[in-house]
Amino acid sequence: MARINHDTVELWQGWQRRELRVDRCKDCDTWVFPPRPFCPGCWSDVLVGTALAGAGRLVSYSLPRVAPGSPPVVSGVVALTEAPGVRLLARIVGIEPERITLGMSLALGWWEDAGGVYPQFGPVGGAGEAGA
Ligand SMILES: [Zn+2]
Repeated sequence: MARINHDTVELWQGWQRRELRVDRCKDCDTWVFPPRPFCPGCWSDVLVGTALAGAGRLVSYSLPRVAPGSPPVVSGVVALTEAPGVRLLARIVGIEPERITLGMSLALGWWEDAGGVYPQFGPVGGAGEAGA
């Protein structure tokens, strides 16, 4: 989430409570993400914030080059199982980079940095889950 604005402030506030909420259209059931005022499927403005457990699958990831001795920070695109079509860019943690595989199951956790709480994902049952 690069910027906080009128559309994204609710999502951001949810993260600070360690809650992943995604809007769903009440009229056509489309999941709406990133947040916006209208459903892109039917233009309805009746969107309902829905809390998700955060189960997902890894769609893609990148492994940055880092200085020798520093741990790499892997970022990945995670497709949310509960909200088809919704993909989140987040840190992938709790697994050695060489063991990461596309399509692997991931669970939502959280991390804090500079006064903000952000989603991250790790292997199901692993150290990256639930605020590690
Ligand atoms: Zn709709």
